[in-house]
Amino acid sequence: MARRILFLGPPGAGKGTQAAMLSRALHIPHISTGAMLRDAVATGTELGRKVESVMAAGDLVSDDLVVAIVDERINQSDANCGYLLDGFPRTIAQAEALNDAVVNAIGTVVLLEADTDELVARLLKRAEEEGRADDNETTIRRRLEVYHSETEPLIDFYGDAVIRVDGMGSIEEVFARIMLGLAAN
Ligand code: ADP
Repeated sequence: MARRILFLGPPGAGKGTQAAMLSRALHIPHISTGAMLRDAVATGTELGRKVESVMAAGDLVSDDLVVAIVDERINQSDANCGYLLDGFPRTIAQAEALNDAVVNAIGTVVLLEADTDELVARLLKRAEEEGRADDNETTIRRRLEVYHSETEPLIDFYGDAVIRVDGMGSIEEVFARIMLGLAAN
């Protein structure tokens, strides 16, 4: 059966890192909307030009644009046996679009959690190391606000499909918790 895993959690919780590790362990593609959008901006595609300023402000790209890129990606052949979605869905409308597009869209939802102080500290550190356009203090606060208002409601939306994982601790510790949570599910 196709295995579908969704990663949910605030910016800085470690979704990207953990999703990449889990993707290698389970041999299913890691689909990150943030990475796809950053790629579009970097290569200067039409999509990239449309989303650049929205992303730099820490706001969400419109549902239509994101749903279209995810829809195209999950229909590629390497996603036949499943996939891991990181950063999508981020709004109730996106989650509904995913349910409409895919039968049994939700396998397991991994909710990664961490304290706000820790999130801000990690994102500021990443800002120094990677220089991502949206990793500055003002934008980080905006992204956390957007997470609370737009994305957090998905925890109730997905209800029993959600596995809560403590994202505090080392990368290996958190990964072990995710593997344990999935095995028990
Ligand atoms: P973060 O590290 O803040 O969780 P991501 O790398 O997942 O960020 O996404 C970076 C930015 O890309 C978001 O702040 C938003 O502007 C845009 N983005 C990514 N995924 C989505 C989505 N599903 N819906 C709308 N915008 C998105």
